[in-house]
Amino acid sequence: MSKIPFHDLSRALKEMQPQYLEVMSQVLSGDSLIHGKQVSTLEQKLSEHLGRSVVTCANGSDALEIILEVYEIGVGDEVILSPLTWVSNAEAVIRAGAIPVLAPLDERTGLIDSTRLSSLITKRTKAIIPVHLYGQMVPMQPILDLAEEHQLIIIEDCAQAFGAKQKGELAGTCGHAAAYSFYPTKNLGALGDGGAMAFADPLKAQIAKEIANHGQSKRDVHQRLGRNSRLDTLQAAFLLENLKHFDDWQAKRKSLSDRYRKLLANISTLTLPYIHLNNESNHHLFVIQTAHRDALKLYLNDLGIQTAIHYPKTLDQMPHLKQTTRDLTGGSSICDRILSLPLYPYLKEAEVDQVYEAIRAFFDSSSVR
Ligand SMILES: *Cc1c(COP(=O)(O)O)cnc(C)c1O
Repeated sequence: MSKIPFHDLSRALKEMQPQYLEVMSQVLSGDSLIHGKQVSTLEQKLSEHLGRSVVTCANGSDALEIILEVYEIGVGDEVILSPLTWVSNAEAVIRAGAIPVLAPLDERTGLIDSTRLSSLITKRTKAIIPVHLYGQMVPMQPILDLAEEHQLIIIEDCAQAFGAKQKGELAGTCGHAAAYSFYPTKNLGALGDGGAMAFADPLKAQIAKEIANHGQSKRDVHQRLGRNSRLDTLQAAFLLENLKHFDDWQAKRKSLSDRYRKLLANISTLTLPYIHLNNESNHHLFVIQTAHRDALKLYLNDLGIQTAIHYPKTLDQMPHLKQTTRDLTGGSSICDRILSLPLYPYLKEAEVDQVYEAIRAFFDSSSVR
């Protein structure tokens, strides 16, 4: 049996090589490696797509940091986070001088339980960062209601949710602002690092743009404390190329994910990804849950099937964050049960079948009965 990597980027790179070489030669024949026209074209396309003002930046983590700065969230403020997320959610809040407050999880989905947030709110609460994990949006209505009642800023972490929808609305268009990552394995990925911020208020977008470019409103006019968080012209050009293929890639992800779901439904002891009624996932990750996770992961690995865990630890379980967070999650054991199966546009149907057969063989074997 051939090996199945968790995410084999080389397949996409091989398939797309002619287009990528063409993109590179166009950028090389221009003269703007920074602030090239591809950057503004990408921002314009994303703004049209989302119906929001979009500003690109160097990566998704910077996007979160800059958004917090735009809304002047800092020392003494509290920001409600999911404990089950990429560590940069906490890093951004702590770097801003604010305190992460960890919310309870919905154990079915790994998303924050938006119906249980009101008891977390204090006079110091300034913002909530719902993270649309694995490509599924957090139920937003209870969060938007809380925001209105308590004047909170809602910052959607859409790093895993580009293209996901809730009640027909795209991820990143419900709150005040949204952060996107174009890390290569995201649904819309660059060939390196990249990120973007989307704002409901164009004036906030302008401030974000200035912060990401050393506080300049125009060349040599520095009017606020800024930093360097720019998206390279080359990465913007790759992203424009990848946008052309995005719908095709999404269709492939959906079909592979549906195939997993249909096959794995035969294994009654396995918990399949739970999708809320009003949600359309973007099929970023296919995350199953089982009490036998560690044994299953090893079993698959021995057969050459690579899996991953998103994430092995919640933020409250990270010793270096313990001092700096307020943990109201009440503890969760979800990290012991979750397992992400291979899912990417260039994964083959036969490989999905192979993963299913292996998982079935594992549960059929006497060791877990
Ligand atoms: C990838 C990711 C980020 C950070 O993006 P980078 O571009 O790698 O900085 C933030 N949040 C979540 C949930 C992510 O998956």
